[in-house]
Amino acid sequence: SGSSAKPSLKVLLCSPRGFCAGVVRAIDSVEQALKIYGPPVYVRHEIVHNRYVVESLRAKGAIFVEELAEVPEGTKAPVIFSAHGVPKSVPDEAAGRNLFALDATCPLVTKVHREAEIHYKRGREIVLIGHAGHPEVIGTMGQLPAGAVSLIETLDDADRFAPRDAASLAYVTQTTLSVQDTAAIVERLRQRFPAIVGPHKEDICYATTNRQEAVQRVAPIVDAMIVVGAPNSSNSQRLREVAERAGCAHAALVQRAADIDWGAFGNIARLGITAGASAPEILVEEIIDAFAARYDVSVETVSAAEEGVFFPLPRALRENQAAE
Ligand code: SF4
Repeated sequence: SGSSAKPSLKVLLCSPRGFCAGVVRAIDSVEQALKIYGPPVYVRHEIVHNRYVVESLRAKGAIFVEELAEVPEGTKAPVIFSAHGVPKSVPDEAAGRNLFALDATCPLVTKVHREAEIHYKRGREIVLIGHAGHPEVIGTMGQLPAGAVSLIETLDDADRFAPRDAASLAYVTQTTLSVQDTAAIVERLRQRFPAIVGPHKEDICYATTNRQEAVQRVAPIVDAMIVVGAPNSSNSQRLREVAERAGCAHAALVQRAADIDWGAFGNIARLGITAGASAPEILVEEIIDAFAARYDVSVETVSAAEEGVFFPLPRALRENQAAE
């Protein structure tokens, strides 16, 4: 320590960062199921979008599949649905095959599913603001019959959207969007369709909002920013964009210390670090350690919000836990 050969680096750690309550619940669900029922436990889709988490659970006996068709016929093993949620067809298929399904969909995603259902029952055409192909979007659209929900990704989409009846229109959103972009899209929809109904602002969750808020504080006062997270993690991608837009010259999404492109971090004195909602803290520590090997690092936390959110496990796992 204190080697005068190393340049000094101030690390500003964003708080909150990393795991949200929905991710903790989803990972705990797999671990608890493994404990109660023993391996294997099937998990449909990456339980959360993080390779480290997936590999750790795989080592404990979780088997990851993309579709239920890959789950063997007649198995008694539980099948867990990921935090992102699933289309209605998935629990239907599980029931049809007598599979033992456990739903680890985040309660804040389920809330959006229920909103969409209520709009549909009231006869409203529904706009979903989100990113095409993301499992949460597939799950939310799949709560209702094909054609009931139209996807809007951009302001251009909002400009082009032609409803069947502008007097009977509603919107819902993906939970992990950019707060800023979504506000602009909602405003445009409200301008074009004053009768549109929706949530107070949007359905972006507390964790997404707080992590973006912390990045907004840190990004303008650092030379570079690292977002610990996976490329298929929507909320992590948004954190990187928020950092860039807040004026940070170099913002990189990094999964592991080994992925750091050291050449891109030339002459920095201040570095911001955050982590997406699916990235474990151990990876943040690994990255700080990697910088500490090259710089004389001092760490300071910048806090934008306190979080005390907790979601209980799915009921079947809770009951068994009590019986243990
Ligand atoms: Fe739930 Fe938000 Fe976490 Fe997604 S990011 S799992 S919606 S708390």
